[in-house]
Amino acid sequence: MKLQKLLSRVAELTGDALLIAEATPSGASGPRIVYANPAFERQTGYAAAEIVGESPQILQYPNANGTAIEPFCRALDTGEPAVIEFRAMRKDGGEFWAEWRLSPVRDGNGHTEYLIASQHDISSRKEQQRALKLREERYALAARGTNDGLWDWDLRSNVMYFSERWKNMLGYLESEIGDSPEDWFVRVHPQDIRALNSAIEAHLDGASEQFESEHRMLCKDGSYRWMLTRGVAVRGADDAATRIAGSQADVTVRKRAEQQLTFDAMHDGLTGLPNRALFLDRLGQLIALSRRRPDFKFAVVCLNIDRFKRVNDSLGHGAGDVMLTTVARRLEGWIGQADTLARLGGDEFGILMEDIAGEQDAIALAERLIGCFAAPVILDEQEIVSSASIGIAMSDPSYERPDDLLRDADLAMYRTKSESPGQVEIFDKPMHDRAVTLLLLETDLRRAIEREEIVPYYQPIVDLRSGRIAGFEALARWQHRERGLVSPADFIPLAEETGLIFAIGARVLSDACHQMMAWTRSHPKGDRLVMNVNVSAKQFAEPGLVDQIEEILRHSGLDQRQLKLEITESVIMDNPERAGDILSQLKEHNIRLSLDDFGTGYSSLSYLHRFPLDTLKIDRLFIGSIGTDGRDATLVGTINELAHSLGMDVVAEGIETVQQLGHLRKLGCEFGQGYLFSVPLPAAEIEKLLDRSPQW
Ligand code: C2E
Ligand code: MG
Ligand code: MG
Repeated sequence: MKLQKLLSRVAELTGDALLIAEATPSGASGPRIVYANPAFERQTGYAAAEIVGESPQILQYPNANGTAIEPFCRALDTGEPAVIEFRAMRKDGGEFWAEWRLSPVRDGNGHTEYLIASQHDISSRKEQQRALKLREERYALAARGTNDGLWDWDLRSNVMYFSERWKNMLGYLESEIGDSPEDWFVRVHPQDIRALNSAIEAHLDGASEQFESEHRMLCKDGSYRWMLTRGVAVRGADDAATRIAGSQADVTVRKRAEQQLTFDAMHDGLTGLPNRALFLDRLGQLIALSRRRPDFKFAVVCLNIDRFKRVNDSLGHGAGDVMLTTVARRLEGWIGQADTLARLGGDEFGILMEDIAGEQDAIALAERLIGCFAAPVILDEQEIVSSASIGIAMSDPSYERPDDLLRDADLAMYRTKSESPGQVEIFDKPMHDRAVTLLLLETDLRRAIEREEIVPYYQPIVDLRSGRIAGFEALARWQHRERGLVSPADFIPLAEETGLIFAIGARVLSDACHQMMAWTRSHPKGDRLVMNVNVSAKQFAEPGLVDQIEEILRHSGLDQRQLKLEITESVIMDNPERAGDILSQLKEHNIRLSLDDFGTGYSSLSYLHRFPLDTLKIDRLFIGSIGTDGRDATLVGTINELAHSLGMDVVAEGIETVQQLGHLRKLGCEFGQGYLFSVPLPAAEIEKLLDRSPQW
C-alpha cells in the first residue's frame, strides 16, 4: 500500500508525461482515459479532469490522416508493448508530433486491462528529418539540369525558394527577387495565370501525378519569355501536400516556332489577315456567346471585290496581289477595333461585327466599307477604280454552325453581285429558300445534261415579204422526267450562274448545225435557210468560242453563212473592246450576227455602227402593242429605219396576230417570228412543216 502511494507520487513528480487508459470500461465502445499525470497536463494543456473518461482519440490532431487510436487498440489486443508516432493536438489547438511508448497491463487471465502511455514531444526531431528530406529533394531536382531554374514552395509557411538560376532566367540577380509565391505569380502573364493556378490546384488535389504548365513570365527588361514549369507536391503522412517544388525551363524558342506555325495555319500569307479557318473559329465562339447571352448580337459581313478577275487577267497576278493588299489595309482602317477582318479566299473578305445593336449598325458599317473603294488603287501606274459587293447575315439563335452563317452572308453577297454590284444586301428567309431551290435545280440540271434531256426546239423565222420560211431559231428545252417541258427562262439563268451553260450551249449549237445541214440536204429546192442560235454573255466571255464554232461547223458540214449567232446587248456592253474583237473574228469566218431582244436593254443605237452586226431583233414587248399603242408603232418604225441605214435587216419577235403582221409589213420590216406562224417545235414537226412549204 505504501509502495503504491510511493509509485503514484513518482508519477506525479516525473517530467515524463504519462497517460493511463482502461481497455474496456463497462458501457464504452473503446478505451477510455482514466489518468493523466501533471507532466501530461503541461504538455497538452488539458487538465486531467477534462480528459478522464474520454477516448484517447481526442488527443490527435483532427485533420491528421489515419487515427492514432488504431495502433493503440492493436497494442491493447496483442498485449505487446509498442511505440507510435502521431500528430497530436494541444487544448489550444496547437499541433505537435507526439511519440507514445505503450505498455499494456494484464489481468490474471492475460487480458489487457490497462495501457500506460509515456508521451514525448518529438516535433524538433521531426523538423530535422523534414529539413533533411527537403535538402535531399532539392539536390535531386538540381541534378536534373543546371539549365533549369528551381523553386520550392512551403505551403504551410507560404515561403518560397527560387534558385539563382530561376531568377537569372528572368534577368534578375539573386537579391532582386524575394521569397514569396507572389514573387512568382505577379510575373506570370495575365492571360496565363488562370491556367497556371488551376494546374497547381489540380495537382495539389491529387488529380495529376505531376503538374506542368507553359506560361509567359515577365522579365526584368519588360519582355515576356515562355517558361515550362513542372512540379511535384510533397505530401505529409496524412497525404495533404505540404510543399510543392519543381523546375522552370525556358521554351521561348520552341514556343515561338509553334506560334509561327499556328499563325501561318490561321492566316493568309498575302495580306497577313486571319484566314477562313480562323474566321470560322471566331464565328463559332460568337455563336456560343450569343447563345449564352441572348442580347448579344453580331453580324457576318462578306465583301467581294467587283471585277477583280479582270484586274488579274489584264494586269497580271502581281497587280492582283497589290490590289488585294491595298484593299485589306484600307478595310483594316475602317472596321472597329473589336471586329475581325479576314481574307476568306480569292477576292473575298469577311468581317465579324461584334456586339451591335442590330441590322442598322451592320448596314452602316457595310456602307463605310464601300467607302474604302472611293479612292482608286494605283496599279502599274494606272488608276484602277473598283467597287465591292457586300452581303450581311445577322446572328440568330437558329444558327448552330458557323458555316451556315457564313454561307448565308455569302449568298446575300452573290445576290448583290448579280443584281446590284457595289451595294449591300442583307440575308433573309426568302433568299435561303431560293438558294435551296436553286441548289436542287442545279443538281437536277447537271443530271439532265448527262442524260441529254436538253434538246433544241425550232421556231421558224419568216420572210415577211414572201411569207415563206427563211430560217429557224434554236431554243433550248428541258424534257424533264417529272416536270415535262421546262422553259429556258427557268434554267438558262441558273446554267449561266453555275457554268453549266457551256455544256448546254455546245449541245444546242451542235444539234442545231447538224439539223440545219440535214434539212438543207432533204429540202434542197428551197432558199438557203439560216439557223439562229443564242449565245449567252458567259459563253461569249470564254476564250475558245470561235474555235468551238469552227469545229462544229466543220463536223456538221454546214455552210458558215447558214449560221447566225444571237447575242444580247449586255454581251457587248459588259466589255465592248473584247466583244468587238470576237465579233470581228466571227465575221472573218463568215458567221453572221444578230442582236437579240433589242429595246429591252441599253438600247443605245449610237454604238450599233461600231459592231459588225447583220440583224436586229426587235423585242416582242414592242410588237405586242404595235396595233394599240401609237408610240410603239413609231418606235418600231424608227428602229427599223435606223437598222436599215446601218445596213442591218430587222426581225420582229413575238408576232401573234394578223394585225401585228400587217403593221410590220407596212413599216417595211423584213423578217418576223412568232406564234402566228408557229410555236417552237421539235425537229420532227419542223420536218413536216418544211414538207408543206407554207406561205403566210
Ligand atoms: P429569245 O432568244 O428572245 O427567244 C425568243 C423567245 O420568245 C422564246 O422563248 C420563244 O419561245 C418566245 N416566243 C416566240 N414567239 C413568241 C410569241 O409569239 N409570243 C410569245 N409570248 N413568245 C414568243 P423561250 O424559248 O422561252 O426562250 C427564252 C429565252 O431563253 C430566249 O429568248 C433566249 O434568250 C434564251 N434561250 C433559249 N435557248 C437558249 C440557248 O440555247 N442558249 C442560250 N444562251 N439562251 C437560250
Ligand atoms: Mg434569241
Ligand atoms: Mg429575243
